[in-house]
Amino acid sequence: NYSLKQLQQIDAAHHLHPFTDHKELRDIGSRMITRAEGPFIYDSEGTELLDGMAGLWCVNVGYGRTELAEAAYEQMKEMPYYNSFFKCSTPTPVLLSKKLAELAPKNINQVFYGSSGSESNDTALRLVRHYWALEGKPQKNRIISRKMAYHGSTVAGTSLGGMDGMHQQLGGAVPNIVHVMMPYAYELALPGENDHDFGLRAARSVEDAILEAGAENVAAFIGEPIMGAGGVKIPPESYWPEIQRICRKYDVLLMLDEVITGYGRTGEWFAAQTFGIEADTITTAKALTSGYQPLSALLVGDRIAATLVDKGGEFYHGYTYSGHPVACAVALKNLEIIEREGLVERVKTDTGPYFAQMLKERIAGHGLVGEVRSVGLMGAIEIVKDKATKERISPVGSAAVAVRDHAIANGMMMRATGDSMILSPPLIWTRATIDMAGERILKALDLAERDLRK
Ligand code: PLP
Repeated sequence: NYSLKQLQQIDAAHHLHPFTDHKELRDIGSRMITRAEGPFIYDSEGTELLDGMAGLWCVNVGYGRTELAEAAYEQMKEMPYYNSFFKCSTPTPVLLSKKLAELAPKNINQVFYGSSGSESNDTALRLVRHYWALEGKPQKNRIISRKMAYHGSTVAGTSLGGMDGMHQQLGGAVPNIVHVMMPYAYELALPGENDHDFGLRAARSVEDAILEAGAENVAAFIGEPIMGAGGVKIPPESYWPEIQRICRKYDVLLMLDEVITGYGRTGEWFAAQTFGIEADTITTAKALTSGYQPLSALLVGDRIAATLVDKGGEFYHGYTYSGHPVACAVALKNLEIIEREGLVERVKTDTGPYFAQMLKERIAGHGLVGEVRSVGLMGAIEIVKDKATKERISPVGSAAVAVRDHAIANGMMMRATGDSMILSPPLIWTRATIDMAGERILKALDLAERDLRK
């Protein structure tokens, strides 16, 4: 048995963490999360935290689901692994694909598996370029994405994403990917410009990029229905219909990244359904297994699938763990739980609206809060110095970090990104859990304001 101190020392000596300043980690030591149950996580010292992030936007059915452990155990005993290369398969990815085709928008009937959202976006990028090559248009390979987008951490994921810091460290992105403005009215709308007009203008930046490159050179547009890691940026209602119109007009494929929004978060199975988007590919991962196993599923629309199948020839792409039987067994059980407990419907009709109301009535009026926003159980609180002028506290991000630290000290795990405080809780949250979160966040805001305005 190791003490916390020992574990922290070993961790700092041997374990490189994702998205972490290792010098800071060495000085502070990591928090060891050792147990979790329902909506709560517990650290090694027994501290209980309400998990406002569902792990990393993924534990939609909450913690402690022994049914998922049993599904994995049964599958491991029977058939722990076999691949789906070379015209083989195991049964669970077959059955999961059928289930996903039933849940997905109606133009989607095929699935390609990986182990992570990043891998799945690599697959999507390769697949759309392969599609145009099969269609005899190999030059139609440019992808349009957005600044502040997050599409994962592999080379292709980083290149598709629009995070400056990540691009700088990459030192050379995958070619032929361009980034246009994000649809975030609070920050980018012009004086006097309403949300509707701003949404159209943001969408038309995609049209401008298509015209600049020439439509004959543009393969696809990729976007998260709601930008997640970029700060839960919710586009105006006018945005997605205009994007759809532009993609159709120029015969540009529409790729959605629903790694966060998939499987109930927005109050529908997919945000494509919430926003009425017809996509050619939908990248999903995370909540597909509620994070209990690593698994991603790229949902592929009929247009691309028909070409891929009918033209024949091999698509030279795949992962050892594509369609992993254990991960797929867990996904099937996870989707069964979401359905059985009516979690998607509950987010749509009950907890989603109640969450929005809590943010508006209890949080929005606070002196540090410029804006609150949410769809379903995904929301953000924008931290400002001055509500009227939207002036930020400098340096960027420092205020949100202060609020986050007070939140954690008061039993509320949430995330800070830029000046946004982010919430993406398990879908098992009830009205009582939402009230508890509201109280803890308000307390954190008060304490942070006291420090910041000293
Ligand atoms: N796409 C989006 C929208 C994400 O939020 C993430 C991860 O947070 C990814 C892709 C990458 O997924 P993964 O971390 O599983 O590779």
